[in-house]
Amino acid sequence: MSLLRKNIWTLFGMLILGGFGFLLLVSYLKWQSLNDDYRKQQHNLVELVSSASYSLFVHQEMVLDILGRELIRPDGSAINRADDQAFKKILHLNPDLVGVGLLTPQGEITYISTDTPLHLLPNMLEQETTRDSFIHAVNSDKMVLGRTYFMSGLNEWLIPVRKAIRDETGEVIAVVAAGFRIKGSSRFFSDKLHLGEYNQVSLIRGFDRYIQFRSTDQDDFQRLYSLSVEPIYKKVLQQLEQNYGLTPEQIKASEQAYDFEVFYNDKVSQGVAKYDSRYELWVLSEIEQSQVVADFTKVVLIYLVLFISSQFVLYLLFRIIANAEKKRRQALIYQATHDELTGLPNRGYLQQNIDQWIRPDAPAFSVLYIDMDHFKSVNDSLGHGFGDHVLKELTRRLTAVTPDDVVLVRQGGDEFIALNPCINDAHLQEQSQMIIDSLSRPYEVNGISFTLGVSIGIAQYPEHGDNLDQLLRAADIAMYEAKKYRNSVCFFACTMQDDYLHKVVMEQELRQGLESNELHMVYQPQVTQDGQVFGVEALVRWNNKRLGFVPPDEFISVAENAGLMPALGEFITLTALREIKALQQKLDCKLDLSINISLRQFMQPNFLTQLQDCLAETDMSPDRITLEITESLFIEDLGYILPLLSQVHEMGCHISMDDFGTGFSSLSMLRTLPMDELKIDKSFVDTLCANEADQKLVQNIIAIGKNYGMTVLAEGVETEHQAEMLRRFGCDRFQGYLFSRPLPLDELEVFIFNHFEPVTD
Ligand code: C2E
Ligand code: MG
Ligand code: MG
Repeated sequence: MSLLRKNIWTLFGMLILGGFGFLLLVSYLKWQSLNDDYRKQQHNLVELVSSASYSLFVHQEMVLDILGRELIRPDGSAINRADDQAFKKILHLNPDLVGVGLLTPQGEITYISTDTPLHLLPNMLEQETTRDSFIHAVNSDKMVLGRTYFMSGLNEWLIPVRKAIRDETGEVIAVVAAGFRIKGSSRFFSDKLHLGEYNQVSLIRGFDRYIQFRSTDQDDFQRLYSLSVEPIYKKVLQQLEQNYGLTPEQIKASEQAYDFEVFYNDKVSQGVAKYDSRYELWVLSEIEQSQVVADFTKVVLIYLVLFISSQFVLYLLFRIIANAEKKRRQALIYQATHDELTGLPNRGYLQQNIDQWIRPDAPAFSVLYIDMDHFKSVNDSLGHGFGDHVLKELTRRLTAVTPDDVVLVRQGGDEFIALNPCINDAHLQEQSQMIIDSLSRPYEVNGISFTLGVSIGIAQYPEHGDNLDQLLRAADIAMYEAKKYRNSVCFFACTMQDDYLHKVVMEQELRQGLESNELHMVYQPQVTQDGQVFGVEALVRWNNKRLGFVPPDEFISVAENAGLMPALGEFITLTALREIKALQQKLDCKLDLSINISLRQFMQPNFLTQLQDCLAETDMSPDRITLEITESLFIEDLGYILPLLSQVHEMGCHISMDDFGTGFSSLSMLRTLPMDELKIDKSFVDTLCANEADQKLVQNIIAIGKNYGMTVLAEGVETEHQAEMLRRFGCDRFQGYLFSRPLPLDELEVFIFNHFEPVTD
């Protein structure tokens, strides 16, 4: 059934075959019924002719009997012609009988009803044509028919009839002979006795197989009636014997009509035969098979025309269905291979059509992996409907800047693949830059204006892979490399593969490490201007059996990309809160705690509730907590971030801007942010002593921070000189190796206990 659904033409073919089979069956049945009809008609005809001829001859026999008795004197001699009045009267009443005569059993004519002198008439026993039938008549007690002959005086064909007249002892005393007019008053033996021109009815004399009568108006009667049909007769009899298993005698005696089919004169004839044993006559009806064939051909031609026209209609119907099915299938294929939202080909399309690109002797080509930066947050914060609008718009832009010979595919989400015949790096760089320029232009959707970044990774066939998976992975790796920089493009290099594999291993190990407590926290003290410890920054550490020590900025980005940040973030927050709370209690001091919050962690939908839960669980006072966020956060959607920051504030927590000066935050933006602390990035502190311009910059940063009411903290302070200069510029707080390296909890406890008197406000 599924095969039929797959190919409607198979069904059509089967219907044609079925129809043809049906046509053959119907034709065969028609052939049978035509044959049956002809056979039945011939049966009826033969029955009719045989019973009619029988009664006709019975009648003639009776008349002959009467005539004979009228002609014979008691002594057996014939009456005188003068005394034959009664005889003539009877003859007059039976005009079908002509030339009645009386003969002695020796064949000599003793009386004739015509004027012919008796001595001119021949002895019947001496005539070859009459001898046998005359002897037969003398020996028979029935009327015997002679061979049909033409009487020129009457211009008619006559069947001689003879009947022996016997005395009381059964001795033949005379033979009455006459001619029976075939076309006499009975009109029985007419030309039209047959069913039609195609049919002929014959009466054939049983003992010598001469034709007595044949219903035809076309034949040469002279030839016909002097013809013995012995060869055909034998064939017919053989057939009857074969078909019915009867001997000729049994067939004759049964007086039933039998079917036969014979081949003679290069023709096949079918017919019906019946034997009249009284007058020893075969009544035969024949039809040439060609007649049935002609009839059959006419019918079959009509069937054929009907068949062909019905098949043609069927064909048209199937064509309509097939076309509709083709369109439906094309629509389905299109649906399956195209993205509904953007109308671009999808991953399915790529899988199906990649063979056109990757094949032996195929030219080299490039695969571009195009990924929007932080698109997920658009969906998360503004809803998928909004995200869909953005995707449509960026697809429009992408299509507009893509050359015609490039196949653009939506790989999923905000990821696009471009198969590009170009392999020239400079051209690819140029094209990619056009894509970046176009996609990073501001978007205006539902009255909201924002910008998105885009990263492009490029791999080449066959250099970077000989199948789609390898190429996509290479382009993906290059794309992740590009992601390290905003709005950039990166060509795949084999070293990236190692980085990638390293990251894959790191991801696996981190997943397990999180469960098997491989991670722990360290704390770097933070001090006031006069060197008092007021708090610590919690920093995560990971020592892995296989990878050894992994720096946090490395594995945190891996955790972010692998979706491990919710678990890792919770571990960091909860551990830091728990440990510092315990330390506070142990040393009876109030210690501030700064916790780094990664971008993805902050954008997690459940970030706030997770924080609240951790605070509640550890019973930590929120106003001792500072969340450190980096400037990169503000390239995300401010409409989502600002309310979130306000909520953090409302909870009582502080917010610090980490690594300030390395990112993109503008001064005007800084004003609108609910920030409590500004952390001057270590890179500025590093160059502070050598560079006057940097000193000015740091002075400005401190001024700006103070201007907006923020506390300013310098991180990475390593020398007393740096500390002194920063102090002079008005920096409030310090953190760095000068004061302490990040310390494990037990060392932190000793550090705080030994070196500083904690601020316990
Ligand atoms: P950050 O938040 O800016 O942290 C300060 C980094 O500077 C720390 O590196 C710290 O050990 C280092 N540092 C502090 N003082 C000095 C100094 O005087 N000289 C030098 N050379 N380095 C100093 P660390 O621990 O390797 O962390 C690197 C970055 O990883 C952090 O930068 C932070 O962005 C991230 N990170 C570390 N721990 C966590 C964490 O628990 N959560 C999150 N989200 N990020 C973390
Ligand atoms: Mg930090
Ligand atoms: Mg920092």
